[in-house]
Amino acid sequence: MPFVQRSGLNIRSRNRLHFSVNTNYQQILQEIYEETLPLKGQGKVADYIPALANVFPGHYGIAIQTLSGETFQVGDAEVPFSIQSISKVFVLSMVFKELGEELWSRVGREPSGSSFNSLILLETENGIPRNPFINAGALVTTDCLLSIKKEPCSEILQFVRGLSNNPTINYNNHIAESEKKTGFRNAALVNFMKGFDNIKNDVDAVLDVYFHQCSLMLNCVDLAHAFLFLANGGVNPWNQESILTASQAKRVNALMQVCGLYDDSGEFAFTVGLPGKSGVGGGVVAVIPNLLSICVWSPQLNKHGTSLAGMKALELFTTKTGISIF
Ligand code: GLN
Repeated sequence: MPFVQRSGLNIRSRNRLHFSVNTNYQQILQEIYEETLPLKGQGKVADYIPALANVFPGHYGIAIQTLSGETFQVGDAEVPFSIQSISKVFVLSMVFKELGEELWSRVGREPSGSSFNSLILLETENGIPRNPFINAGALVTTDCLLSIKKEPCSEILQFVRGLSNNPTINYNNHIAESEKKTGFRNAALVNFMKGFDNIKNDVDAVLDVYFHQCSLMLNCVDLAHAFLFLANGGVNPWNQESILTASQAKRVNALMQVCGLYDDSGEFAFTVGLPGKSGVGGGVVAVIPNLLSICVWSPQLNKHGTSLAGMKALELFTTKTGISIF
């Protein structure tokens, strides 16, 4: 077993498994993979970032990492992809760890009900974004990181490498550069918030770190590994480092539950019922506290920027296993 489970969590997850759940994960993954293959060809690869438009649309992979140390995977689970907005969870965790409750004076904790790159609410809400997962909120957390770390890009890399237990993870500079060239809405958001004094650093410096974090290349196995600390009371199970307090980890999960998929969050809660985070690279990660994390990748998206197959696969996962947080 690659890591030690916290004993309290062990007991709780064992209790949970007394309910009638199916934990034959490998077989379930295989079934899900086959049942969702017909979704290929539906949906659309994100093309507003030119480098993402070149991704092969037929990629499809799923990986599960359990707290008891088992990994299950199917399809292209070891092909790295651009994690895009999934990176927002990592940067939020880094700044929440350092700033604690102070962070919430800069960014809210409510769903926005609008698309991930919307500017609309900022005007009436004085430049305070609704939550840390819409682009405006993530730009604020990235700005916070710039204020507390001298070398934010290398700090993010170390953080994600540690969480995923993979020292080879890196940025894709080509994707970061491509997004920079077309990132007009993000530039508008950060400038607009600077006008409200809710961005403290140079706008280009904030955008540069933001585009880099979005360009991080991880595969489904890496991401399932990297999100496991949120299933483990904030403790990185690979090295027992405390990333967040148990209370902070619960709060990050709560935010993913209500805002992790932007204006698709209600649908995701309704059909999947887990805290989750999507990215326009086609990845979706979900967490079952005290038990496991799961990542699905398929680059074809619905109109909210959620992976079409990803959402369906996770719906089937909670249905077939019978595992629920509710
Ligand atoms: N880098 C993307 C953007 O800022 C991230 C969006 C997403 O994954 N939802 O537009």
